[in-house]
Amino acid sequence: MKFRIEFALALSIFALTAKAEKIALVNGTLINPDKSQIVQNATIAIDGDRIAATGDAKTISAPKDARVIDCKGKFILPGYIDTHIHFFQSGDLFTRPDGADLNSVRPYKDEVAWVKSHVNDVFARYLRSGITSVVDVGGPFWNFEVRKTANQTAKAPRVAVAGPLISSVSRPQLDLGDPPIVKIDTPGQAREFVRKLAAQNPDLVKIWYIVDKDRPVDSFRPIVRATIEESHAHKIRVAVHATELETARAAVEEGADVLVHSVIDKPVDDAFVKLLKDRQTILCPTLVVFERYGRTFSHQLNLMPEEKAWGNPEVIASLDVTKIPQDKLPARIRDALARPDEALDRIKKTYDIALPNLKTLEDAGITIAGGTDAGNIGTIHGPALFREFQLMKEAGLTNMQILQCATANAAKLFGGDTGAHIGKIEKGNFADIVILRSNPLDDIAHASDIDTVIKNGAVYPADSILR
Ligand SMILES: [Zn+2]
Repeated sequence: MKFRIEFALALSIFALTAKAEKIALVNGTLINPDKSQIVQNATIAIDGDRIAATGDAKTISAPKDARVIDCKGKFILPGYIDTHIHFFQSGDLFTRPDGADLNSVRPYKDEVAWVKSHVNDVFARYLRSGITSVVDVGGPFWNFEVRKTANQTAKAPRVAVAGPLISSVSRPQLDLGDPPIVKIDTPGQAREFVRKLAAQNPDLVKIWYIVDKDRPVDSFRPIVRATIEESHAHKIRVAVHATELETARAAVEEGADVLVHSVIDKPVDDAFVKLLKDRQTILCPTLVVFERYGRTFSHQLNLMPEEKAWGNPEVIASLDVTKIPQDKLPARIRDALARPDEALDRIKKTYDIALPNLKTLEDAGITIAGGTDAGNIGTIHGPALFREFQLMKEAGLTNMQILQCATANAAKLFGGDTGAHIGKIEKGNFADIVILRSNPLDDIAHASDIDTVIKNGAVYPADSILR
């Protein structure tokens, strides 16, 4: 018994000293995208899990008892934040049987079991990519356990979550008892479901506002209204999937706090831009996901070197559709393989709308938060963010704006007390930092030239994280 107490005491003292370690980053260039701040020859003092002081070497000196890390020639940024991911999806070919049913090749229940047993692997891949916080914008109730696990795991990003999506359509293929998508038919049902979600303390409530010729915008609108009213009554923000201009407009008019995708059917108009500005709506463009289904299915996947290096190899290997026996290919993949140019054409048409829309909203001062929709087929957990950066660049955003979207703006979407203490390298904030070998302001491709990642004050040489 005595031994146990001493052992426990020793452990807690160890935890305390580990937590209270003082670190000083010196001689590097600090980039705080929030205010476009650049500090040459910066000193950043870290005390335990927090940033204790930051400034140029003339005003701040490294504390005497600190471990000094020389960052000469390096660039120090807040850790990146991906504000649109899904832990219940692996990114592999079998993860959305509602979109491409491959149960005859790999049963969906096996896919779900794999996903559940690889949560720590996914966490590590985010850290390797310099991503120290993520927002899961919808999945099964099991998502709340993922958040808990992340909170108890050092080598994991901070996690904010929404629970199951409140949806206008059902997706029975995904329902193994804890469905990620729940069809709601009446405002009363919506309120009841929000109350059930509220018991889990979600960071967001998510609405899947899917419209088509049988389900016009107005038919689901009363449910959107009831969901938002009930969520706001519980002080929970609401994120809405609405990819058409009129759907997105309706969602924001009803009080949506976050739009989780770009508008992809029409150019945004002045009234829409003003609406987002007046309501301070945050928009997450998720450009990368719009190309990845079509490119995967038509065997024209364009993974970046970062994705190949840091994505899960099993997930990436699965994405080669030519390895699936012909007779087991769902029609959607067969058609894409038969007409690969049409797949690329559809992607081009989407980007011809989505990229200028992003530029318009950015220029108007709308808060744009970086995010990928990782976990969807072909969108790789972690490094997909670097393809998102490329596409944001193509849209005409500056490198500083892109970094701002993925740090300070993303922290606003993350929300809560944690969101208020991430996304900027400032005294009192969490010590979540990425150190780069080359300057991302010269070329956004340098954003993945990662030397070191610091999460919660713990320092990880980037090369060591996936070893
Ligand atoms: Zn999504």
